[in-house]
Amino acid sequence: MAKLNDNYLKLKAGYLFPEIGRRVQAFTDANPEVAGDIIRCGIGDVTEPLPAAARDAMKAAVDELGERSSFRGYGPEQGYDFLRTAIAEGDYRGRGIEVADDEIFVSDGSKCDTGNILDIFGPGNTIAITDPVYPVYVDTNVMAGNTGDADASGAYEGIHYMPCTAENGFVPAVPNEKVDLIYLCYPNNPTGATATREQLTNWVKYAQANGSIILYDAAYQAFVGDDSIPRSIYEIDGARECAIEFRSFSKNGGFTGVRCAFTVVPKTLLAETSTGEKMPLHPLWSRRQSTKFNSVSYPVQRAAEALYSEAGKAQISALIKHYMGNAKLLREACTALGLNVFGGENAPYVWAACPGSIDSWGMFDKMLAEAKVVITPGAGFGAAGEGFFRISAFNSRENVEEVCRRLETVVGSF
Ligand SMILES: *Cc1c(COP(=O)(O)O)cnc(C)c1O
Repeated sequence: MAKLNDNYLKLKAGYLFPEIGRRVQAFTDANPEVAGDIIRCGIGDVTEPLPAAARDAMKAAVDELGERSSFRGYGPEQGYDFLRTAIAEGDYRGRGIEVADDEIFVSDGSKCDTGNILDIFGPGNTIAITDPVYPVYVDTNVMAGNTGDADASGAYEGIHYMPCTAENGFVPAVPNEKVDLIYLCYPNNPTGATATREQLTNWVKYAQANGSIILYDAAYQAFVGDDSIPRSIYEIDGARECAIEFRSFSKNGGFTGVRCAFTVVPKTLLAETSTGEKMPLHPLWSRRQSTKFNSVSYPVQRAAEALYSEAGKAQISALIKHYMGNAKLLREACTALGLNVFGGENAPYVWAACPGSIDSWGMFDKMLAEAKVVITPGAGFGAAGEGFFRISAFNSRENVEEVCRRLETVVGSF
């Protein structure tokens, strides 16, 4: 009989968001009269409409495809040059960071890229992952066979977990031992924490000293308002020799449904063959994408390009301002209720300590039952997330104001 991939059987029941979906469904089935009243601050999905610059570019591109003279079929697997140049100029070279056009690989999402990147790494790497964490990094390593089984707390054998706590500001110190691949995400999902230049410099130095590679997820870089906080790992000297950066248009451009992202693989980034020879990773990722991927649709790449126009940049700023205004209100409401609050200042997530002795799923159930607000329980992001819950600022202003009022009824009862 055909064999399945046993590694999938190691995965712990349900990815976090399906479990949230199940609980919300169970609640609305039991209470159909209040179903319409539920406010969702759980999943980190944007709510505001697509920027006009992106919509216009997409429509014009669709019309081009409707004419024989301007029709396009398959595009380059790594993305069209017009978009790779717009990205390299707009996000990097225009800010004094060295990144070449052909170091940009356009894709349909950072979720896929952060998972697919494991294709170009060999077996036997030690993997370091923050806890709590975006679950994709962990689960894709399980699927790839880089871990053993999970223990009762959900921690997988073979992963080097780096606890992120209030004490370390949710940015882990570098490990005392050698690890090979390090997943870092700043501004962070779920904690809303940011990493300082000094902290990232320590990580780059560690990676250089140990031959490690940092997989840097900068999906939320656009939410950084404080100029002293790095938006890219490549702002740190030496990062071109030890880091891959993932970026997405999902959160800044509202592209969660449109689908466009990119990965930066510097040509100066090397890794070792099984026989100890140092070789660049860039050709491997290029080959991986050419073989398994046919890039992103032309209209979507034109829409992404338009985000770098003057109009596009202004429209992104307005979106960020809206969401960060929400984050401020949520932070203030939680603080006024006496909760210990983190994040929400350079990131669209507020991370709050659960009141009293309630655990995070308990807080989730209570918020759903008593306030009809969906939050995300910290434990769903890893053992160290227990005792916290995440509120997403991706919402309308009206909903956020209502969430602030409803928080009071629940938190006030402790
Ligand atoms: C939203 C998010 C992304 C973006 O994923 P896409 O697949 O590009 O939509 C990447 N990383 C993290 C941590 C995120 O929260």
